[in-house]
Amino acid sequence: MTEKNFDVIVVGGGPSGAAAAVCAAREGMKVLLIEQTYCLGGMWTSGFVNPIFDFENKKGFMKELVDELKSKGQWGGFWEASFTYEYMKEMLERKCLEAGVTLLYDTHYEGAVMEGNRIVGVRFKNIEGESECYAKVIIDASGDALVAADAGAVCRVGDKDGKCQSVTLMYIVSGIPEKYKDGKMIYDELCVAYKNANEGKEPPFEVPYLIPAPGSGFGVVQLTHMNAKPLSAADRTAAVIEGRRQMLETFEMLKHHNPDFEGLHLVQSAPLLGIRESRRIEGEYCVNTEDIMNGSHFPDAVARVTFNVDIHGNDQEQVCCDVTEYEVPYRSLIPKGIEGLLVAGKTISGTHTAMASYRVTGNCCAMGENAGRAAAYAVKNGVGVREVPNDTFIV
Ligand SMILES: Cc1cc2nc3c(=O)[nH]c(=O)nc-3n(C[C@H](O)[C@H](O)[C@H](O)COP(=O)(O)OP(=O)(O)OC[C@H]3O[C@@H](n4cnc5c(N)ncnc54)[C@H](O)[C@@H]3O)c2cc1C
Repeated sequence: MTEKNFDVIVVGGGPSGAAAAVCAAREGMKVLLIEQTYCLGGMWTSGFVNPIFDFENKKGFMKELVDELKSKGQWGGFWEASFTYEYMKEMLERKCLEAGVTLLYDTHYEGAVMEGNRIVGVRFKNIEGESECYAKVIIDASGDALVAADAGAVCRVGDKDGKCQSVTLMYIVSGIPEKYKDGKMIYDELCVAYKNANEGKEPPFEVPYLIPAPGSGFGVVQLTHMNAKPLSAADRTAAVIEGRRQMLETFEMLKHHNPDFEGLHLVQSAPLLGIRESRRIEGEYCVNTEDIMNGSHFPDAVARVTFNVDIHGNDQEQVCCDVTEYEVPYRSLIPKGIEGLLVAGKTISGTHTAMASYRVTGNCCAMGENAGRAAAYAVKNGVGVREVPNDTFIV
């Protein structure tokens, strides 16, 4: 990599990172986006997540993506809010390239380059070996707050006892029976299968969903449920292995012990393990339970959230509760005590409970877009990320 100096570097190309990179580049910024896999979209594409929650109340980049998917017949399916993965990948990639983003796949973020409390660059590793690149603003969209943690930001993990939500390995099936083509919860169907098999066991999760993509040729199953500490490599490894075991067990139960599903085929498990909860930074503002219950609004809003609190517990259960439409303020994207760094996506500053609501992808995309716009304002005007005016943001 010969070019070393950028205006903005984005780490991670998920819903927040891809949006951040495109939107900063559209503001004239020279942007580098590094992504460890070979596609953009993060959990959208490598995690097989569907549908997109909280897209309806979004303007800007989220709406642009949905409009294009609709125009190509790649939108619909489950809850009329699902999409096909390959079209999403191509679209994000194309929008990055059209905006002039320098995109590096198969490139693993390794560390922050600091000057005192200011981040000035990142280290990464790829086929060319180790490199360092520099930028005036770095956006951490890694889904694990990797950059923020390396830069010295205070981070929290889990609830008051440090417990995190369960993780899930999503899997794709085809041959979905006609009567399930709109998708539905399949707990009863699994119970029937386990009973028919005389297994004396229960499904691993109480709220499993069959989620057809548009066109209904295939769908994803959200079913496996594992306990894992998100910051333990051993736990992540054990979880993905157990996820594959649960996938095969539940698929075979459905296919061989519930006559409704005899035409079902197992296609593949997701390349990325679905980690619902990881680090959360301590930011200039912490989105809290009162905000989400009372519907707080902020002058520096970057995302409007309606999605309920959705906590996948450490066992079979899933606990949900409604929120009053609220906003995420820009200040919650700024890690306390660090200069030149923004965090976007599920790792922004909020409580365990609040995160369980704003973490869904429509909101992550909006946060990313506004992080990109904020970074561009800061660079163009030669100011810090804390001095970005409220009218910079699209909500
Ligand atoms: C099982 C599961 C089901 C879900 N279901 C839904 C749903 O139905 N609808 C919905 O809207 N939301 C859903 N969510 C929530 C949503 O998927 C996430 O909260 C959201 O994707 C977070 O976006 P993000 O941009 O913060 O991170 P991510 O989507 O996690 O993206 C992070 C990106 O950073 C990259 N990266 C990580 N580390 C490095 C590194 N060292 N170097 C370079 N790149 C790196 C990753 O490869 C990835 O591309 C679900 C989540 C899970 C886990």
